[in-house]
Amino acid sequence: MDLRDHIRDIPDYPKEGIVFFDITPMLSDPDAFRHTIDCLAEKFKDSGATKVVAAEARGFIFGAPLAYKLGIGFVPVRKPGKLPYRTNCVTYDLEYGTDTLCMHEDAVEQGEKVLVIDDLLATGGTAEGMLKLVKQSGGDIVGIGFVVQLGFLNGSEKIKDHEHCFLVEL
Ligand code: IMP
Repeated sequence: MDLRDHIRDIPDYPKEGIVFFDITPMLSDPDAFRHTIDCLAEKFKDSGATKVVAAEARGFIFGAPLAYKLGIGFVPVRKPGKLPYRTNCVTYDLEYGTDTLCMHEDAVEQGEKVLVIDDLLATGGTAEGMLKLVKQSGGDIVGIGFVVQLGFLNGSEKIKDHEHCFLVEL
């Protein structure tokens, strides 16, 4: 199955001149969605990870079923003020400005093996923020996975200290 067939290009969204890659067709097709999760699980089945860390909102869509399939835990990373317990937060660079992500301070244990998952790698800022959060907690990043990588934005430069993989490159 070619997952590219299940990604829709939306010109001028969210701003004029930007093409947004919409993964919702991949979610609404049961075979494509199952295939996506199965492919991610295949890549990480021998990673030894005990947690998947993924950021809201689209990261949850892939991170949670991957954790279920691998039989490991899931850790939500969220925007400030959304998590109920004590959090660690990091601020990371966006193309224009900054953003902040938070994780419960006890979600990842010292030395715990962790997978970091997101739907799409663009500039790499979000992934870099998640890596910082996991490192702050003392977690050991054993894999980073994306469904889609936008190669032309060179986001992989921001996470180059770690191996990462993806299912579709655009
Ligand atoms: P980055 O931080 O620039 O790498 O952007 C990646 C984050 O923005 C991911 O969490 C994506 O959900 C979201 N994102 C950016 N561009 C797109 C897109 O074209 N389609 C879907 N999500 C996107």
